Amino acid sequence: MSPTTSENVLSYLEAAACVRQHAEKARHTARAVEQAPLLAAAGRVLAQPIVSDRSQPPFPRATRDGFACRAAELMAGQLRVAGQLRAGEPWTMGPLAAGDAVEIMTGAAVPRGADCVVMIEDVQTSGVFVGLTAQRTLAPGDNIVDAGAEAHEGAVLAAEGRRMTVPMIGAAASCGYATLAVFARPRVAILATGDELVDVSREPLPHQIRNSNSYSLAAQTLAAGGAPRILPVVPDEVTATEDALAKALEMDLIVLAGGVSMGKYDVVEQALLRCGAEFFFTGARIQPGKPVVFGRLAERYFFGLPGNPVSTMVTFALFVAPLLRALGGEIDSGPRFVTARMEEEVRVKTGLTRFLPARMESDVGGAGVRPVAWQGSGDLAAAAKANGFVVVPETADRLPAGAMVSVLIL
Ligand code: AMP
Ligand code: MG
Repeated sequence: MSPTTSENVLSYLEAAACVRQHAEKARHTARAVEQAPLLAAAGRVLAQPIVSDRSQPPFPRATRDGFACRAAELMAGQLRVAGQLRAGEPWTMGPLAAGDAVEIMTGAAVPRGADCVVMIEDVQTSGVFVGLTAQRTLAPGDNIVDAGAEAHEGAVLAAEGRRMTVPMIGAAASCGYATLAVFARPRVAILATGDELVDVSREPLPHQIRNSNSYSLAAQTLAAGGAPRILPVVPDEVTATEDALAKALEMDLIVLAGGVSMGKYDVVEQALLRCGAEFFFTGARIQPGKPVVFGRLAERYFFGLPGNPVSTMVTFALFVAPLLRALGGEIDSGPRFVTARMEEEVRVKTGLTRFLPARMESDVGGAGVRPVAWQGSGDLAAAAKANGFVVVPETADRLPAGAMVSVLIL
């Protein structure tokens, strides 16, 4: 007799909460740290905070080309131009004397005594004198950012556990980080199962198909901060699957695709059980992706994803990516949803949370989304046209045109 799992099929929200709980635990486990050159740290998860090493700006910064002066004095009449100050040049002539102005360039340090910078567009000069153009006004603080107004020395500009964005790269550079400590990428074993699969480099026979899941999963793994290891395709046999699992245990996370449905040769769950796996859930009321399983095997998390290519990528985005990001130390690890306006009505049956491939277009006024026609969870051609998946809640039988809906981003 082969062992059996007790069925534990959850709603989408329950399954997501289960993964979130384990992600929270995973985030708090120790992990290796690497030192990355600044540019190589783009997209990596910070293992240290980015701390401002000086005040930002470090000096009162002129934000316009013009004249540094006292606002009240220039409002009252002409001032004498006492000198010129370029960005990167220190002012050595002491505090600004009464009745004086200094010609100043954007990015230069405003001399002591000046309380504003008047824009070049707002003044007229005659000889060594400068005066405000009629109708223009000026107030203290205009066109100056005070020293420390953006950040004080010692301020945390980005916390440990955040993934490095473009502004964070800029902020790190401005604080003098030539290298950054980042968390090592979790290693992810990718195991496609199925007797019908041949590698992309081989010519399939008429009854065979190419293994696409290993590649889409590896791409998703990279995007979620993991290091994918594509292992050889596993035939639909229990012992072969057990052997493959033993090898996969060398990695930090195991992702299987295929072989988790009800078919006679869907042996993944059986093999997992025989290896001693614990299952947190054995299905979710979602479409695509219903047979998805999640559990733990010898101190490693594993996911068994359904093999239909669109199911594989949707369940990865919903469940695997959040856990993987947490294993990589990322604070904000949940699935990525955005809100968009439905451009046309869709009707579905209730009872499953659905993720419909859709094309979203966004502009400054918001995003509009339109489902793409598809033949179901094997339809990679439809998924390739889409750039997101419209979420239809379990209880909804339609989403009317104009409704604001959630869109899952892969
Ligand atoms: P399964 O989940 O194993 O029942 O597979 C469901 C469907 O997905 C079948 O049509 C399989 O041929 C297909 N499939 C399974 N694994 C892959 C894969 N790695 N690449 C492409 N299609 C697959
Ligand atoms: Mg199969």
